[in-house]
Amino acid sequence: MKSSDVRVPKIEMDDIETVNDNSFTEENCAIVTGAASGIGRATAIALAANGLTVVGTDVDTNGLREMKQKATELDLDGSVETVQADLTVDDELREIVKTANSSGQIKYLANIAGLQHIDPIDEFPPEKFDLMYQVMVRAPFYLSQLVIPHIAESDTGKGCIGNMSSVHGHYVTSDKVGYNTSKFAIRGLTQSIAAEGNGDIRSFSISTGYVSTPLVVDQIPDTAKSRDITEQEVVEDVMLGQSRNTDMMDPIDVGNLFVIGFSDLASHLNGGDLLFDGGMTSTYQL
Ligand code: NAD
Repeated sequence: MKSSDVRVPKIEMDDIETVNDNSFTEENCAIVTGAASGIGRATAIALAANGLTVVGTDVDTNGLREMKQKATELDLDGSVETVQADLTVDDELREIVKTANSSGQIKYLANIAGLQHIDPIDEFPPEKFDLMYQVMVRAPFYLSQLVIPHIAESDTGKGCIGNMSSVHGHYVTSDKVGYNTSKFAIRGLTQSIAAEGNGDIRSFSISTGYVSTPLVVDQIPDTAKSRDITEQEVVEDVMLGQSRNTDMMDPIDVGNLFVIGFSDLASHLNGGDLLFDGGMTSTYQL
């Protein structure tokens, strides 16, 4: 796969998995963070296509508008609402949950928003490290704290929180200390929710290799510069070099994993991690 081949694909109805699940109704609500772009956008659309009321949130207003337009264009069974919010601001996190609670019975939370920064440890800006931790660990924790009572009070008392980790939540590459530590941490949050959820409130994480989203496309030039290699080498060696699959996942492939993880098909997925890494962490080349 060449660097010029890495682009963000469009979502078509045929790409979306639908699951027959009694809880996938318009009365029930799923909150999705990072819904303006990439994996979050695809997940919001996939969950609404499965009949849920989705509250998609992001700091990026234009991206949220585009996501909503796409949902309208696809004429989904469920509906999509948007809340513009910055995940580093607690008042805004409370506002997301308030909106979701007035839109339906909160049953699901997909913590997806994230960001990347490339620098070696000795040059990594501490304030960037804090920001990454706030968006990718603290906000998922605080949103979970806010939604758990709503799930517990819902008709069945059951629900699920899905968290976006990464192959970098299992093993790491250099120059990504903020990302690596956050992705390990969110797996700890996932297992903590499962430990306290008594089987009624489940949690799972998803760990993928590289997915063609703006987060990946945008880091190619920085990685090339920090490692003094070409952009082509970044894609072929750094991103896919350890993977047995030679292509990247599409965002909707990950959205479909959230659908399955939230559904009864995954009723025993609790604290576990869906490692979809194309063989990256389990094989090596001689
Ligand atoms: P993306 O850049 O397309 O989307 C990330 C979204 O998060 C953006 O819309 C951005 O506005 C939002 N966001 C960032 N900071 C925010 C804040 N303070 N408040 C509210 N929203 C904020 O990226 P993506 O690739 O879709 O990544 C989504 C998640 O998946 C991230 O957690 C990422 O770490 C993870 N992930 C991505 C890949 C990949 O290869 N793309 C692989 C594994 C894991």
